[in-house]
Amino acid sequence: MLDGKVALVTGGTRGIGLATARALAEAGATVVLTGRDEAKAKEAAAAAGAASGLALDVTDAKAVSTLVRGVAKEHGKLDIVVANAGIMEDALLGMIREELVDTTLSTNVAGTLHTVQAAARAMMRKKTGAIVVLASIVGEHGSAGQTVYAASKAAVANIARSAAKELGRSGIRVNAVAPGVIDTDLTSGLTEDAKAENIGKTPLGRLGTPEDVANAIRFLVSDDAAFITGQVLGIDGGLVL
Ligand code: NAD
Repeated sequence: MLDGKVALVTGGTRGIGLATARALAEAGATVVLTGRDEAKAKEAAAAAGAASGLALDVTDAKAVSTLVRGVAKEHGKLDIVVANAGIMEDALLGMIREELVDTTLSTNVAGTLHTVQAAARAMMRKKTGAIVVLASIVGEHGSAGQTVYAASKAAVANIARSAAKELGRSGIRVNAVAPGVIDTDLTSGLTEDAKAENIGKTPLGRLGTPEDVANAIRFLVSDDAAFITGQVLGIDGGLVL
């Protein structure tokens, strides 16, 4: 399905990023994954069947640009970029510290933007490419105690919608996935009661797995999705927040 394609996945050391790197590699792509820690990135790359694991902090615009250019140069092109790196920290309105605003927006919004910009630059030469960014059901509907995260993910969805409009004529598709509650380290802080409450509000009656999201991303970056761009695809078992 992805034979001959070159793919980059940010935040690929665990959770959805790791599952996505594995799914793309299993579909035949040459995958480069990144993580903040080089040793962890190399370990994850070996586990996922990826070609390499590199260190990258997505908040550093210059580092993102240099790494993306380097990957495209080494492999001769870049077909697929998944801007997955992200963080989530809950805080009620009255408890939101400035530091939380800074770290969340610089990672989720600026980090995604840097990645999409660098990907677009690398893909522009060949006039083809597929980019997926990680939004969230929370960014589409809002969630008490998650105002900062929700704002950041609404921004991510609109990065996809806007970049898709700008890049379509260059043959580059940009879509977002909006997962519901997925069982990863990010959501490991949820109490059993909170998990049960979410499952109760989910028609499919379970939490999502990283593979549920990875499979949808694999579809969106494949040629089967050749006429799909600017979409925000919910992967949430029907969860109603
Ligand atoms: P996770 O915490 O397991 O993994 C996140 C990854 O991003 C990690 O590898 C982490 O090291 C990396 N990362 C964080 N900050 C980074 C930075 N500055 N530079 C580079 N890498 C960085 O989380 P996950 O559940 O796998 O989430 C992946 C993405 O999916 C995130 O963007 C998250 O917001 C989004 N998402 C997750 C859920 C969920 O329920 N798990 C729901 C909706 C959206």
